[in-house]
Amino acid sequence: MRTLVEKAAKDLVTSKYAIALTGAGISTESGIPDFRGPQGIWTRNPEAERKAYQSYQKFINDPKRYWEERLSEDRDHGWWGELERTQPNSGHYALAKLEKTGILKRILTQNVDGLHLKAGSRKIIEYHGSIFKLRCTSCVSRFKRETIDLRQLKREDKLPPRCPKCGGIIKGDGVSFGEPIPRDVYQQSINEVELCDVMLICGTSAVVTPFANLPRISRRREATIIIEVNLEPTPLTNSISDYLIQGKTGELLPKIVETIETIRQEQEQLL
Ligand code: NAD
Ligand code: ZN
Repeated sequence: MRTLVEKAAKDLVTSKYAIALTGAGISTESGIPDFRGPQGIWTRNPEAERKAYQSYQKFINDPKRYWEERLSEDRDHGWWGELERTQPNSGHYALAKLEKTGILKRILTQNVDGLHLKAGSRKIIEYHGSIFKLRCTSCVSRFKRETIDLRQLKREDKLPPRCPKCGGIIKGDGVSFGEPIPRDVYQQSINEVELCDVMLICGTSAVVTPFANLPRISRRREATIIIEVNLEPTPLTNSISDYLIQGKTGELLPKIVETIETIRQEQEQLL
């Protein structure tokens, strides 16, 4: 394990354009359950997975009713309410530090929890959106959730919310199952994976497409180094990744960053 941490640190230090791909696994140590890990929401309750797949269809069929139903849910006590109060863990902080060193150029996250931003990372692509934002389904403009008073619109029977810029229908920015990835983040992500020479994949089961295709795009270039940090092997492990460092992101990512700091100090002393 120690040697793999050192290997990852060396690969990152010598990289020109390193990026990280993250999934729900990086946030489990903040107390947010993932979907498919050993304690995942869907591992324990397969019915919840079926329901999740119906949500986008509901929005498409009747956006007014979709919003009315969402606003009548007691969100403060639900999963999402808790999400807003959650804090980053040492894995998120390690990636933020890696960005500050100049090594990590971008994080592409599947998470909607905003924890990378809270941890101090700035170069983030939220591939599946954010629970803190709303998005126009026509022009893809995004708005902070608090800038549109949804409850007021409900009281005035003016749902669904409309985009102040183009009049398009607004939905939550979080990408629902079955919903296409917004075209801007889709294209930006492809640009990033085509550019990177090191990809650090953290805490994702790598089964949700099209996100799970991103490492495959990078793999077309043989020289790209693909490193996985995950509790368990994934479909990428034997075919796409160069190596897997098995364990918790909250423990392994700080170790990798500490090792990088040591390498850099040694390099400075040699100069
Ligand atoms: P997933 O639930 O399918 O898989 C999580 C993976 O992380 C599993 O392989 C698990 O073994 C691993 N893992 C769990 N804890 C870990 C830890 N401490 N360290 C390292 N690995 C760990 O998650 P996914 O691949 O991101 O796909 C789920 C989808 O659901 C995503 O699209 C995401 O948008 C959404 N989701 C988001 C959140 C969030 O925002 N925090 C939470 C749940 C689901
Ligand atoms: Zn719009």
